[in-house]
Parts: sequence; structure tokens; C-alpha cells
Amino acid sequence: MPFSHTKIVGPTGRYGARYGMGVRRKVLQIEVKQRSKHRCPRCKSLVKMERIAFGIWRCPKCGYTFAGGAWVPQTIMGKTLATEAAAKQGTK
Ligand SMILES: [Zn+2]
Repeated sequence: MPFSHTKIVGPTGRYGARYGMGVRRKVLQIEVKQRSKHRCPRCKSLVKMERIAFGIWRCPKCGYTFAGGAWVPQTIMGKTLATEAAAKQGTK
């Protein structure tokens, strides 16, 4: 990972002063997980999923696009955070 000015909050630094540290730590953990490999629901290969949009993922191997968790392809903690994020952004 390259040098970052946001060494404490990591990738979540982009949220600026918004959100509390608790949420940020959770997001940080999830984002790290997000960058790791996930199993494709179609071709079953363990690959790095591309996040196309909020909750939409694509397998780079077979090109399969699927709806998953807002933060990670497989919804684990994503459920809790999606609710929090929706509340923060105002439910659509
Ligand atoms: Zn696939």
C-alpha cells in the first residue's frame, strides 16, 4: 500500500469528518475484505470482484454481474452497514 496521509483511518479517510470512528473502523474492515478475493456465484472461481455500483458486483473472469452486499459481494456485515449508510444518505 502506498504512503497515505490518512494512516489512521485508511481508506475511510475519504469520508472526511463525517461518520464516527466506530462506523469508520467497521467500514475499514469491510473495505479491506472488499479488496480480497470472493467466490463467484456462477463460475465458482475465487477472484477479485469488481464493484460496479453500490451493491452491484461483477466477476472479472466470466463477466457475471450480480447484486450482492453493498460493501462486500457476500453480505456478512454489509447488512448492518447498508442500513446505516442508507440512514445517513437518506433512504431512496
Ligand atoms: Zn465468475
